[in-house]
Order: sequence, then C-alpha cells, then structure tokens
Amino acid sequence: MNIAAASTATESLGPGFRAVIWVQGCPLNCRGCVAPEWIPIQPQRLVSPADLATELLAGPAVDGLTLSGGEPMLQARALAELVRRVRLETAVTVICFTGFTLARLRSAPPGPGVDELLSEIDVLVDGPYVAARDDGRGLRGSTNQVVHHLTDELRDCGYDFEHRVRSAELHVDERSVTLVGIPPHGLLATLDSVLGDRPESFDDRDPEQLDR
Ligand code: SF4
Repeated sequence: MNIAAASTATESLGPGFRAVIWVQGCPLNCRGCVAPEWIPIQPQRLVSPADLATELLAGPAVDGLTLSGGEPMLQARALAELVRRVRLETAVTVICFTGFTLARLRSAPPGPGVDELLSEIDVLVDGPYVAARDDGRGLRGSTNQVVHHLTDELRDCGYDFEHRVRSAELHVDERSVTLVGIPPHGLLATLDSVLGDRPESFDDRDPEQLDR
C-alpha cells in the first residue's frame, strides 16, 4: 500500500472512535481539494496491509475504520486485505470516501479489487468534491456526494451523515500537524490567521486533511 498518513483514533470522521487511513494518489484533481499534496500518484509511505493492520491494532480500541485519501479505490485490493485483517481481531465498521460514483465503480472499476473492497464497506460516500456545492455540513465535502449504506450496520446509529455539524481535530506530533475531519466553513481561514502561512506551518507530509 502507498499511504499518505494514518491516525489510530479520531472522533471527526464517522461515529465513535475510528482509525483513519489516507491513501496517497488520486486521479481526479477536484478544484478546491484541500489535500492537494495527496493527489500525486507517487510513493509516499509504502507499507503492507499486514503491517498496517498490526499498527492500527496496537493503537486505542476503535469502533471503526475510515478510508480516505487520495483515492482509496486505486488501492482497493490492499485496503480490502487490511480491513479483513483488522476484522479478524476486532469488530469494526468501515466508512470509505471515493471520488468515483458507486455506479461508476460497479460498471467500470478503476482498478483491481474494487468489488472486494465494496463488499467490506458499510458506508460509502461517493462522488467528486464540488466546491460550489459545499454547504459546510455533513460527513461529506459537497452536496452532490451521496451517502450509501451498503450494509445496515450504521443505518440506524443516530449519526446524521448528511446534515450533522462538522467537526475537526488537530493532531500534533513531533513532526507534523494534521487537521483531521471535514472542516466547517471558515475553519481553514481561521487556522491561516492563527498560524500564518499554513503550508509552512504544517508539515509537508501531513497537510490539512479533508476528503471530499
Ligand atoms: S477531493 Fe478527493 S476525489 Fe477530489 S482530488 Fe481531492 S482526494 Fe481526489
């Protein structure tokens, strides 16, 4: 796998505590993508699904995994293996963001293993990010994106994927600051004003994170 970053626990990308994997590389190049550093399809951190599963399982107990990026469907087979390995040890729900529509994934998958990964996903948030349709709400970047409950696991959990007030977290370590979550309107401007020139304040490896 080629990943941009990982977090072992967040409350900002789905219900409960979740581990998050952001993969490196996306073919879509949406205008306004706030993780442009993660668009180039180039090696970032290469890790096997087995090693990444071990890393995640050594972290705090979580309720789920969130797969984001970058474009997870370009690394579908490896992500499916990662999910299966984690699920051998603990029950987790899986949320995945993709810039492709579900119809496109089913009719013309962009790579191998897409069906395999779809079979592991509970909630798929699909479609490209369209800045003009970003209403500042929900666990999605813009209103064209559709929340698909591929299983019933999170359908009645009380988490309003489409309309909830957004939240985000700053994860800080000795090397980087990562904004985790889909930022509410105004948050990035506030961070710019507080931190100054954000690209220099934030580590090059882990810029602010948003998926679609
Ligand atoms: S918003 Fe998502 S789909 Fe669009 S370019 Fe960025 S990572 Fe790719």
